[in-house]
Amino acid sequence: MTESPAYFEHLLQAPDVCINCLRVIRVERVDPARSGLTREFESHYERNQETTEIGYGPADSASEAKGVFCDHCGTEGPDHRYWDDAGDDRLDDERVRELIQNTIRTLEAKDVTIDRQTLAARALQARENDEHVDDCLGDAIEAAIRRAVTRDDTADPDEDARREVPA
Ligand SMILES: [Zn+2]
Repeated sequence: MTESPAYFEHLLQAPDVCINCLRVIRVERVDPARSGLTREFESHYERNQETTEIGYGPADSASEAKGVFCDHCGTEGPDHRYWDDAGDDRLDDERVRELIQNTIRTLEAKDVTIDRQTLAARALQARENDEHVDDCLGDAIEAAIRRAVTRDDTADPDEDARREVPA
């Protein structure tokens, strides 16, 4: 498992980010007081009546944020993940790219300064080496933050040489 502090802080353990798809969850509380839910509202959030309960959210910690649904993948709360990226369930390339894109969007939504190119390139590179997607993203996030910090002052000539130069 990755040890990236930024990955944990801004994504994996953030109460407002869905770890199933790594997007910021639109903060919409399902309040018991709003018992007159319209069908339209319910179907939009696709709450499974059998397996979920109506509680309160957003909350200070991920585990307390019940009743908040990811508007992208329909997952309840930020701490449920329906894949494990292992063995036969290993994520395909398309899904990995989607998670990378969502990670970039989420970090930018949280005003974390990152170098997008670095994040995407490092994550894909690590993926080619068969690393778990969490390790790919964690390492890439750390590299992308470092890159964004150093980009404007002491640019590494080797890094610059690898950039694409217009003909
Ligand atoms: Zn989601």
